[in-house]
Amino acid sequence: MSNHFLDTPIEFLKGVGPNRSEVLKKELKIFTFRDLLFHFPFRYEDRTKIYKIKEIVSEQYHIQLIGKIEKFDTIGIGNAKRISAIFSDDTGKIELVWFKGLKWIKNSIKTGEPYIIYGKPSLFQKYFNIVHPEMEELKEDTLRNLSGFQSVYSTTEKLIAKGFTSRGIFKLQRTLCLQLQGKVQEYLPAQILKSLQLVSLEQALINIHIPHSNDELMKARLRLKFDELFLLQLKILKEKGLKNEFVKGFIFTRIGEYFNTFYNQFLPFELTNAQKRVLKEIRKDTATGKQMNRLLQGDVGSGKTMVAFMSILMALDNGFQACFMAPTEILASQHFETIKQLAAPLNISVALLTGSTKKSERNILLNDLAEGNLQVIIGTHALIEDTVVFKNLGLVIVDEQHRFGVEQRARLWKKNTSAPHILVMTATPIPRTLAMTFYGDLDVSIIDELPPGRKEIKTQHFYESARLKVFGFIEQQVKLGRQIYVVYPLIDESEKMDIQHLMKGYDTLLVRFPPPNFLISIVHGKLKPIDKEYQMQLFVTGKSQIMVATTVIEVGVNVPNASVMIIENAERFGLSQLHQLRGRVGRGAEQSYCILLTGNKLTTEAKLRIETMTRTNDGFEIADVDLKLRGPGDIQGTQQSGLMNFKIADLTKDATILNMARNTAQDLLKSDSDLNQTEHLELKKQLLKIYKETNDWSRIS
Ligand code: ADP
Ligand code: MG
Repeated sequence: MSNHFLDTPIEFLKGVGPNRSEVLKKELKIFTFRDLLFHFPFRYEDRTKIYKIKEIVSEQYHIQLIGKIEKFDTIGIGNAKRISAIFSDDTGKIELVWFKGLKWIKNSIKTGEPYIIYGKPSLFQKYFNIVHPEMEELKEDTLRNLSGFQSVYSTTEKLIAKGFTSRGIFKLQRTLCLQLQGKVQEYLPAQILKSLQLVSLEQALINIHIPHSNDELMKARLRLKFDELFLLQLKILKEKGLKNEFVKGFIFTRIGEYFNTFYNQFLPFELTNAQKRVLKEIRKDTATGKQMNRLLQGDVGSGKTMVAFMSILMALDNGFQACFMAPTEILASQHFETIKQLAAPLNISVALLTGSTKKSERNILLNDLAEGNLQVIIGTHALIEDTVVFKNLGLVIVDEQHRFGVEQRARLWKKNTSAPHILVMTATPIPRTLAMTFYGDLDVSIIDELPPGRKEIKTQHFYESARLKVFGFIEQQVKLGRQIYVVYPLIDESEKMDIQHLMKGYDTLLVRFPPPNFLISIVHGKLKPIDKEYQMQLFVTGKSQIMVATTVIEVGVNVPNASVMIIENAERFGLSQLHQLRGRVGRGAEQSYCILLTGNKLTTEAKLRIETMTRTNDGFEIADVDLKLRGPGDIQGTQQSGLMNFKIADLTKDATILNMARNTAQDLLKSDSDLNQTEHLELKKQLLKIYKETNDWSRIS
């Protein structure tokens, strides 16, 4: 939209002027006609119904009244200073109250004249009043102009003081929209508009402010949301090397003997439907000649390893090798044990490679790998090194994606003549919509179902004051033979205090659970590795019953006998962290518990986090709440990006539109990767314009 009309400074809009334009600039960053146009309503009200005062019986939703102001009073002083007015219609009276913009109210609102007012009644000392109603003088055409939907705009005290109530802003929009015809440059290619049945940008911009029907409004919103998401997807796909997606992938033509034998004879349990679905997705990717880049999200315990293993079988059946990379040695060796066991009856060769693999062993292993005598290798970052050469690598599995950067993934790609298929797995659920945005170059699979028979972890919240009760519970569980985690927050800046806090907690526990009847392990970041290992082993082998730790305890800790997770100062943890911590129990056959201990005073947000944790075990639901609470800008690794400042799209709600935007962007780039075709030039211009100031995104993901 590089047209002059929309670049006109806002002071030139009728009804604004130089003086009042200042506050629009300061408060809303509205400098031009365009800026105003893109200040969208944040909700709509049905303004067709006019209430009578006697009909007000509850603190109902916003209502409209028609009546007159009988008299004004200024009452109170200081902060309590306010204007109170008696407003009446032929059925009764109601008080109107203003705390702000008093001068403007007094100067511009007249007594004895008919007004149409709008606001939310609230009950105050047995009488209803309306605080800060919107007021509009009732003129001949006012009622005719009441559209079914009234746009509501965000505004501020300072704006209101200048008469820019929501209604005032609407009037500006109306003035502008009346002049808009033919002034908005369309940038979406006609083909896209047609195939997605999108309205023109001009139509959308007018109707978002002045919708005449629900249908018009929906179409306007769809178009504007689509634009935001589409432009972002275009940008991401372009920058993240879309071309790679069309690199020819190895074709796994068949499901062969390994897979079938395992499936028919050795599968230790029935796969969940989610596991089956994901395997089908992987099968489809690898069979069609495209190179798979898939993100597999599945909550802790959802059975990702089995999916990984069976994908490995697909690769082996087609004569390829596979590798499986984990972020820590503990995790790598855990995976190694699991895979080795599963693979044993199939006569598959599997090896483990980590930083601590002995040199002699390592040399043999690397040689086998290069010769093709070794089929599956499992390991840590060590696998990325250039000395690791494969005969014919066909599949790479990466566990805990967020620890590996794009660059590291890229290095794995180079380990065969053409890129192997990649499956990245993460237990940190992020909403699908976010995943698609941040891992724009990955397809997303989700395991949203736990294997049957799992006992739900019971989560309870206790205030600090109930600590003794919690100790009683610990004792009871220990007597049943269970083990307990007690986790303390550790946040960098206040590390010293946190350590003190942890030590104090440890001492208290020692007094309550003294040796020799009890043994308590303690693990934190300040311990020497050797001491840490010793303390961990005590717990892993069941010698200690309680493990006091900060969040630095390894992700890989897997103690099925641990059935209680106590989180101290739970209000200080973010939701995803709480969920991850909780995931360390519930791994055995016993009923498991998670106890959230907090101080007595909680912020609204902390309350919501705690409430969410006690309500659900579903990682995706939790991730959604997290997203709503923190906003997408705060989700891991995305802070500085500033690319989530959507005006109208909402990643928590617009998954369908996002899908549409992504597919459309993909198709478009497939046909014209640089957007150089004539019909794409306006789009390219728009893209450059919108993103010229955003930072480098390539570091994200
Ligand atoms: P994660 O997704 O956290 O990596 P795992 O793959 O470690 O989960 O699986 C957790 C546990 O569930 C393992 O003991 C695994 O054997 C078991 N499991 C996986 N899939 C199923 C299934 N379909 N039915 C029963 N148990 C399963
Ligand atoms: Mg796992």
